[in-house]
Amino acid sequence: MTSIESVYRRLVEIAGSEYVSNELCDRLAYSKDYSIEGIAKDYTPDIVVKPANSDEIVEIVKAANEFDVPLYTWGAGTSMSGNPLAVRHGLVLDMKRMNQILEIDSENLTMTVQAGTVHDEIYRTALKHNLFFTHHPESSISSTIGGALSCMGMSIYGAKYGYAYDQVLGVEVVLGTGQKMRIGGKNYLSLPTHNLLNLFLGAEGTLGIITEVTLKVYPLPAFRDRVSYGFADIRTSMEACKRIHSSGCWPETVYAFDRRSLVQYMERAKTPIPSEVRMAVLFGCSGDTDMVEKSLEVVSRCCEEYGGSRLPAEVTESWWKSVNITRENFDQSNFALSHTAYEPDLIDACVPFSRFQEYSDFCDELKREFGWVEIDFGAFAVAAPRGPIPFCIYFSVPIDTRIPREVNHWFEFKERMYRRALELGGSVSDANGVGLRSAPWVREELGPAWQLLTGIKLLVDPKRILNRGNRGFD
Ligand SMILES: Cc1cc2nc3c(=O)[nH]c(=O)nc-3n(C[C@H](O)[C@H](O)[C@H](O)COP(=O)(O)OP(=O)(O)OC[C@H]3O[C@@H](n4cnc5c(N)ncnc54)[C@H](O)[C@@H]3O)c2cc1C
Repeated sequence: MTSIESVYRRLVEIAGSEYVSNELCDRLAYSKDYSIEGIAKDYTPDIVVKPANSDEIVEIVKAANEFDVPLYTWGAGTSMSGNPLAVRHGLVLDMKRMNQILEIDSENLTMTVQAGTVHDEIYRTALKHNLFFTHHPESSISSTIGGALSCMGMSIYGAKYGYAYDQVLGVEVVLGTGQKMRIGGKNYLSLPTHNLLNLFLGAEGTLGIITEVTLKVYPLPAFRDRVSYGFADIRTSMEACKRIHSSGCWPETVYAFDRRSLVQYMERAKTPIPSEVRMAVLFGCSGDTDMVEKSLEVVSRCCEEYGGSRLPAEVTESWWKSVNITRENFDQSNFALSHTAYEPDLIDACVPFSRFQEYSDFCDELKREFGWVEIDFGAFAVAAPRGPIPFCIYFSVPIDTRIPREVNHWFEFKERMYRRALELGGSVSDANGVGLRSAPWVREELGPAWQLLTGIKLLVDPKRILNRGNRGFD
């Protein structure tokens, strides 16, 4: 009997035959995520298993170790970097049965949930208790909290509240050895000395499987409103954003799109964008009505100081609906792009504020060199409250994945873009994680720290069972 057959039998004993499958039709559903990397090769797993609880996960991890079969944790597969893919085949561990809200503690402003819970469910449950759960990605109606914590997920409210990992107080995690532990608690200070929690956040399932999470929630703001401004170029829009920061006003939403991105986002809504707008920024504020009105007044004044012109309310609302995707409006979102003949892809690199324009110009130059002048590339940035690099930049390119030459061409393009980001003092990863997409440049970015990381990996996952072959780990 092969180790795959043996492990299949063991998994059936652990999770029950209803929740283990080696049928091709089930396995194919886990062979792709939203990345071009996922399309380029075959990543079909041998077995899919859907655990009911963390005790079953402990046993599954022990079985994977015993039979030396790699194990890939799968949230909802909405990743755009190939990071849940079964690169060396083996097992996919689908977390979606673990979708229970375990506790809502309104007094202490926390919620404890299982890691397979979908964001929209957490958001709606919080709302029923007059609470605000701030992590709201555009994929909110399908992606899981475990996936977001593993990829450093970015929220539409991130300009004020930060990334997904900023919302976490504690986790329960199963290591690659099968050992289960809880790290952190309900208090900000439940992590004495070293912050071990951070080891598992953004680790893309390579250091442990997150099974349970205690999250911060906030009292529900009474009111929310927004404005958007058009600018002549990237530089003036960035200066306006800095000016808003220095005014003391802190919007919860800051999205900066170039014209092409904005047009893409408005594809379904068909909202016309004034022709003189080259760059646009959406600002959202929440709180008491008078505070929100005052904040938007300050935002408007700062934008106008830098030559910004207010976009029609129709554009603002349509834009907001495109990023604030709910069960009710998802057909107006950029999800629409996924259904065209072309596949949109991203380069999600971070560059310092001061190099943003330079990076965008480099992209334009490269486009000319690659002969892609006619293709629409969009660049957009999402502001986060993070020190000297408050913006990350994404370029999205429609690729016809039916043509292998075009896909390879795109990979070459990407390499040049990532290298340039590093040269400009930036980073090759952001809200979509590293996955297969930017793994080749992570070692370069980390330098000697890469060895420290591989040492930690060997400690918590000595047989390199977890997400083998992904994120640069062999
Ligand atoms: C249309 C669209 C819009 C998007 N918008 C946003 C956005 O606004 N902001 C944003 O941040 N991202 C966005 N994304 C990307 C994606 O939704 C996020 O990266 C999301 O957090 C992935 O969650 P998931 O549950 O689908 O995880 P998956 O894609 O299944 O997995 C992602 C990674 O997390 C690991 N993982 C999953 N669960 C666990 C767990 N419990 N323990 C340990 N590791 C785990 C996987 O192994 C993998 O490495 C978007 C994607 C699409 C398709």
